[in-house]
Amino acid sequence: MFGTGLLKGLGVTLKHALDTFEDDRESVPDRYKGSLDLGNNRRVIQQPIDQEGLLTIQYPEEKRLLPERFRYIPMLIWDSEKQEDRCTACGICAKVCPPQCIWIVRDSDENGKPVTRCSEFYIDAAVCMSCSFCVEFCPFDAIKMNHDYELAVYDRYPQLVYDMEELTVPLEYYAALWPTQYEEEQARRKEEEEQKRKQEEEKAAKAAARAAAKSAAAATDSSTAQAAPKRSAAELQALAKERAAQRQAQAADAGGDDAAAAKKARMEELKRRAQERARQRKEESGQ
Ligand code: SF4
Ligand code: SF4
Repeated sequence: MFGTGLLKGLGVTLKHALDTFEDDRESVPDRYKGSLDLGNNRRVIQQPIDQEGLLTIQYPEEKRLLPERFRYIPMLIWDSEKQEDRCTACGICAKVCPPQCIWIVRDSDENGKPVTRCSEFYIDAAVCMSCSFCVEFCPFDAIKMNHDYELAVYDRYPQLVYDMEELTVPLEYYAALWPTQYEEEQARRKEEEEQKRKQEEEKAAKAAARAAAKSAAAATDSSTAQAAPKRSAAELQALAKERAAQRQAQAADAGGDDAAAAKKARMEELKRRAQERARQRKEESGQ
């Protein structure tokens, strides 16, 4: 029917107007009830999740309290407990970043050998699309999403290309912005460290057991060697002579057998020749 859409739209507007009126009535006498007063007419206002009305905020003096999962441009974490950057320059974030807006330079030691530390880390905020892939793939919890969205500048380059100094924040800043996630991460990291400690202890215990078994085996070998009788040089010489004489006797025995066999064969041959000659003489005499 003609005009149905128009009536529906007016209905939505009326609903928002009534919801807003109801929200405002509930917040009487102060619409800033529960807000955070920053002084100088600056406030952070939180709209309760059960409110459906349209809460007007006088930006920039008033700002809405951002939800924990709000994300804008990444930030790098400085671990205040360990006094070091968490980033190890592994480069995973740069690889997974869809618009390729992360640039990392790995640091090196005095011998020129690469180390697990960044010397430079850049993010082009003009290209970053706040997808949070870098955060999800970082294996060291070294990069997190910042809530700071007031980044307007007159010139895109180089102001919107953030370097390591501009990106780095202390761990406490991250803990304040992401309290729930921070607590979960801390619990997980603690558990992982505990597991790692246990594994190292088990490994050390196994290594110690192996070393003990090895030294026990070595001790047994040396005691066996000690148990074997030790002969003097004269005894060893006599033993060698005795063995040489045994070998000669064995050779002589073997040689004697051969000579007897040859003699027997020769006798057989002579006997066969004598019989042959006798047979020939008999034939010649015509007998
Ligand atoms: S922020 Fe994380 S993923 Fe990126 S280089 Fe550093 S440690 Fe690797
Ligand atoms: S948030 Fe997304 S686009 Fe921005 S630096 Fe991380 S991976 Fe790249």
